[in-house]
Amino acid sequence: MSTVIDGKAFAAGLRERVADAVKEIGSQHGIKPGLAVVLVGEDPASQVYVRNKGKQTVEVGMDSFEHKLPIDTAEKDLLALVEQLNNDPAVNGILVQLPLPKQIDESKVTNSISVDKDVDGFHIENVGKLSIGEDSLIPCTPAGCLMLLKDHVGDLTGKNAVIVGRSNIVGKPVSMLLLRESCTVTIAHSRTRDLPSVCRAADIIVAAVGVPELVKGDWIKPGAVVIDVGINRVEGEDGKNKLVGDVDYQAAMEVADGVTPVPGGVGPMTIACLLRNAVIAACRQHGVPVPAVIL
Ligand code: NAD
Repeated sequence: MSTVIDGKAFAAGLRERVADAVKEIGSQHGIKPGLAVVLVGEDPASQVYVRNKGKQTVEVGMDSFEHKLPIDTAEKDLLALVEQLNNDPAVNGILVQLPLPKQIDESKVTNSISVDKDVDGFHIENVGKLSIGEDSLIPCTPAGCLMLLKDHVGDLTGKNAVIVGRSNIVGKPVSMLLLRESCTVTIAHSRTRDLPSVCRAADIIVAAVGVPELVKGDWIKPGAVVIDVGINRVEGEDGKNKLVGDVDYQAAMEVADGVTPVPGGVGPMTIACLLRNAVIAACRQHGVPVPAVIL
């Protein structure tokens, strides 16, 4: 029987440390970080994310700026808002909630955010810095996966890590982070041959696919650690909607050393890492050290 890797509890602890860091830079340097979140349209899931981000930003003692734009917003108007936020000294971090409506080019918007304020870590320059191992703002969900892994496993050197999924927002950055930790990294995807065998070689599996319970119990090596990034809404036996991950959780718990549940695993880490990134961004912009409590 394995351990539940409790991302909810870890994220709560991280948010407390972020709050301590905010107090520290406030009292020592007079800095109050500000995080701006831009939402275009009324996608219900995005609205919930944005509301939670704003609430948690205020709870850790930072300023929260929310900008809600209509679904038919022109690309040039969104770019003008980003430019205004780039130039606003009260704003240290900018997040434009994705996905954006189809008339707007997502990569153009992402790359218009100042590199120093790109708390999502999706700007091409931050992506490049991550891949060559330079200091950068690291995407939040991948950063959360790494924190949970290091907390559970300790030193990751030499571990065989299989990342299932090669998206720019999860799979690729997680792979880069684990490579930086000296893991031997395999990136699997929809065209991978014999995915079960590939997974069976792994000491660490990170599943970021978006297919409910794709990774079965017998794909997992006994004693492996499983990080499940997937969030899939499926109909339960009672006819009600429920959330499941990309891993068959019950079966994984029989063989693995540790598994993140869904919900309550990676999910809560994402916003906590976003808040941490906002503090790091504020410190860098002001040329002051990042408080040790969040390093
Ligand atoms: P994506 O759709 O951009 O990428 C999915 C990847 O999975 C692709 O690279 C594809 O090649 C691969 N894939 C698809 N089917 C496959 C299969 N049958 N076998 C092997 N690989 C397959 O998705 P994403 O944005 O990376 O998100 C992945 C999952 O993580 C989704 O469920 C999403 O909701 C969730 N997610 C969670 C958080 C969080 O905060 N916890 C954040 C981002 C994404």
